[in-house]
Amino acid sequence: MAELISISEALARVLARVRPLPPEPVALPDSAGRVLAEPARALVDLPPFPSSAMDGFAVRAADTPGTLPVGHRIAAGRPVPRALGPGEAMAIATGGAIPDGADAVVPMEYVVEHANSVEIATASRPGDHVRPRAGDVRAGEVVVETGSLLGPAQLGGLAAAGISEVRCARRPQAAVLATGSELCAPGEPLGPGQIYESNSTLLASALSSAGAEVERLPSVEDDPGLHRAALARGLEHDVLVTSGGVSVGAHDLVRGIERELGVEEVFWGVAVKPGKPVSFGVRGATLVFGLPGNPVSALVGFELFVRPALLALQGAARPGPRYESGRLVRALRRSPQRDELVRARSRSGEDGVTLDPIGGQESHMIVRAAGADALVLVPRGEGELAQGEQVRFLRLA
Ligand code: AMP
Ligand code: MG
Repeated sequence: MAELISISEALARVLARVRPLPPEPVALPDSAGRVLAEPARALVDLPPFPSSAMDGFAVRAADTPGTLPVGHRIAAGRPVPRALGPGEAMAIATGGAIPDGADAVVPMEYVVEHANSVEIATASRPGDHVRPRAGDVRAGEVVVETGSLLGPAQLGGLAAAGISEVRCARRPQAAVLATGSELCAPGEPLGPGQIYESNSTLLASALSSAGAEVERLPSVEDDPGLHRAALARGLEHDVLVTSGGVSVGAHDLVRGIERELGVEEVFWGVAVKPGKPVSFGVRGATLVFGLPGNPVSALVGFELFVRPALLALQGAARPGPRYESGRLVRALRRSPQRDELVRARSRSGEDGVTLDPIGGQESHMIVRAAGADALVLVPRGEGELAQGEQVRFLRLA
């Protein structure tokens, strides 16, 4: 690890190797959390017809104020049988089609209703409480742009515009492999010298939250033959994420065996704390991430490099990581050599977000990290960041 590169340099090198996956048709309800591969255009004007914004009475504004006979009650979803005559009102519900001839709606709250007439005390103006046709979007206009992540609002917009199917990049196929002879699966009794294996669970859930379909390979001991077989299987995927075995110890086998299997290493070693020995390489179109074994290092490496890569694979316009800004609740010492990602608890208040670093910042302390919801970026340098200082942070999902 002669020379550490910066986080941003490492991310740039990762993103430069991403080849976006081809699109496929996806039924709209199944597209949540995926990235749109082509602009989706409205099939209809929305609203499709001028409609009422209120429960009330459709009128000609010029006929108000006054007492008007109620000639018809407009039912939702039914065609209006005729135009509104001069000096007439029609009862209408929110969303009801405005009859020809009407140009305003007087809300229920502003009228006195009699058996067959309605008394309107104040003057309406044309357009009052009327939703014009195509006020939201016009047929043929773009509803959601290419590269957008589809969330509830986007899905709602697409459905409202009449779209039942979209095109999204196919989901990345990812493999997760934990390495280490000391690892024991949760649920099994812990033997001497063993620890419970947490990274494959952590990484599999992180990968699926980033849109991947995940295969969890069985963990392997620090044995070259076992590594070779498992890594070969992992390399059949779009993305292979390993944990452990990328440091400088005698048992750290991952990079050497990946090289034997034809992986071109793009970098090894980033000036980040935790997670310095992270490696990244490619074989063909497969992206290969070697995250360090300490679980917090794996978590940080995932958020800095793997999640953006997965989003870029799916064609996201802004793959991130998406930093937000907040203020430190207490001072933090800076590391002279490496940018640090400090686990913290965030709190949203009237004057923005405050960030309270948790106790227990060592890279093996995943249980402490489980109490955090933010990774605060502490840029390398001398001295400390003061209490109240503005910092950038990543939200942990
Ligand atoms: P390594 O990167 O293989 O040197 O591992 C660094 C530290 O992380 C060691 O203390 C390992 O025991 C621990 N570790 C490695 N892999 C895992 C894992 N999958 N789950 C939990 N801890 C791990
Ligand atoms: Mg190890």
